[in-house]
Amino acid sequence: MPRNKVFVNRTLNLKRIKYIGLDMDHTLIRYNTENFERLSHTKIMEKLVSRKNYPESVKKLQFDFQFALRGLVVDRKKGNLLKLNRYTAIRNSFHGLKPLDFKTHQKVYKSTYIDLSKNDYLAIDTSFSYSLAHAYSQLVELKDSDPQSKLPDYAQMADDVLDALDEAHRDGSLKEEVRKNLSHYIIKDESVVRGLEKFRKHGKKIFVLTNSDFHYSKLLLDYAVTPFLKDYKSWVDLFEIVITFAQKPKFFYDDLKFLKVNPEDGTMSNMDEKLSPGVYQSGGARKFTADLGLDGDDILYIGDHIYGDILRLKKDCNWRTAMIIEELDEELQKNVEAEPIMNEIESLMHQKEPLEEELTELMTKKIEKESPVDEKRIDQLQDDITAIDTQISQLIKKQQALYNPNWGQLMRAGNEESYFAYQMERYACVYMSKIGDLFELSPRTYFRAPRRPLSHEVEMRSLTV
Ligand SMILES: [Mg+2]
Repeated sequence: MPRNKVFVNRTLNLKRIKYIGLDMDHTLIRYNTENFERLSHTKIMEKLVSRKNYPESVKKLQFDFQFALRGLVVDRKKGNLLKLNRYTAIRNSFHGLKPLDFKTHQKVYKSTYIDLSKNDYLAIDTSFSYSLAHAYSQLVELKDSDPQSKLPDYAQMADDVLDALDEAHRDGSLKEEVRKNLSHYIIKDESVVRGLEKFRKHGKKIFVLTNSDFHYSKLLLDYAVTPFLKDYKSWVDLFEIVITFAQKPKFFYDDLKFLKVNPEDGTMSNMDEKLSPGVYQSGGARKFTADLGLDGDDILYIGDHIYGDILRLKKDCNWRTAMIIEELDEELQKNVEAEPIMNEIESLMHQKEPLEEELTELMTKKIEKESPVDEKRIDQLQDDITAIDTQISQLIKKQQALYNPNWGQLMRAGNEESYFAYQMERYACVYMSKIGDLFELSPRTYFRAPRRPLSHEVEMRSLTV
């Protein structure tokens, strides 16, 4: 049996799913993320110089893919990058390119918890996080190092970086580079196409719902899907419906009009009739489900963007959701490497517990003055506990070093889930590192969510064992 690579938050019966919807970029079509982020970083810096009058020198700043992590939060006012846990408590922070030390951190953030609804904060949870976060931190560093520089304040720089990235997406400058060098940016995966054909055999309808425009979608689908088809002539026949320029998340809650696209030449025409198989632009989820006679839970939608693809969809449409987290595979491998270290930590914790209990007991007696206590023993216990703590903190460092050097694990922030993992868990019914992980399974798979014990249940269990 191959290892199951689709992970379940909420039970999902694939047999009951009639339509499977796919986001295109980073979902149906895999990118070489490091190459693409390097390109985004270059484009951000170019736009800052040409549009926002930033000094030419920013174009020389080199991109470091390892610097940031998905799911970080930018503190626009203070020029910091933050990693939060599920309660939005800050667990790690950088100012510019350096970590904030504990003292400065305490001075800057009076409370550990931050209110993400304030516009001081910008959550960056797409794969574009890497270029955006690094570019921003480099600019903060540059501004700090040279007070004479004409760079705007931290908040303005955050807005400028975001604008520059948006514009690079909108005006086609990123797409133009991808078009020129497809194999550098796009990963072909024949097994995905095999899987899609298998799902069609089982009567599943498959649609594509992408924010990319028709011509770019055609470029990528012609490149990565059509050449591998056996049962169909082109992607146009494989997919029931393709909706381009969908403007997600607006697609999920607004009622924009659908336009019909001629897949031969990309020309568009108005339409008033019901949706039928074909290629479209824009539109909205309400008409989509009404015309096809679908309930929300007949549809499984797969995407990689927590806000654009998953969160609004779950809130507004009640479709079932699957999330692609491409960093997951590597994190799972690292977790395996980390396991012996984690076991060592656990056994040290077990050694520590009886010592702590004994110390608590002696200290209690001492304070309550019931009987004379063995002071030497108290000192000994304190020394032993400190020694174990030192060992544990060294092991934690060793464990963290396996993951991102600056931020550690993607899914965890200390003992808690990271904020990113928390969002994913709330809104995605299932998750996986790539779409092929789902399509290699049977279309009749029943995904059962594991039962999650609450603290009191864990305690109960340890008492009864
Ligand atoms: Mg996407």
